[in-house]
Amino acid sequence: MNLEKSSIIFNDSHQTISFLKKEVEKFVKERKWNKYHTLKELAQAISIESAELLELFLFKNLALDEILNDSDLTSKISEEFADIFIYLLSFANVINLDISYAFQKKIEKNRKKYPLSEFSNGTYKKK
Ligand SMILES: [Mg+2]
Repeated sequence: MNLEKSSIIFNDSHQTISFLKKEVEKFVKERKWNKYHTLKELAQAISIESAELLELFLFKNLALDEILNDSDLTSKISEEFADIFIYLLSFANVINLDISYAFQKKIEKNRKKYPLSEFSNGTYKKK
């Protein structure tokens, strides 16, 4: 990983969501891009970057092990994932969203919506 002006190697075990939110906030503020990071623009950017992620799979029918053994593809997937995540973090910054709390509320809602008593056998139906 090549990090500008940093010798820190980020990894999920050592960086908190709060730290990542601050890194994105700093990046945007240093460039005076806050005016571009409106909720509408960020929602559009999240959708556009999600489409770029989808495009990597367009007209391909690859098994997971084929994807994981393709270093060029996994690198592109990593970049598009990061694009989406950075815009999500910026979106959270704009509305002062506590991501962990939002996650907790939603996963609890999903546990009630998809109870183990109905969904422990691998079947799925949209509710
Ligand atoms: Mg992209």
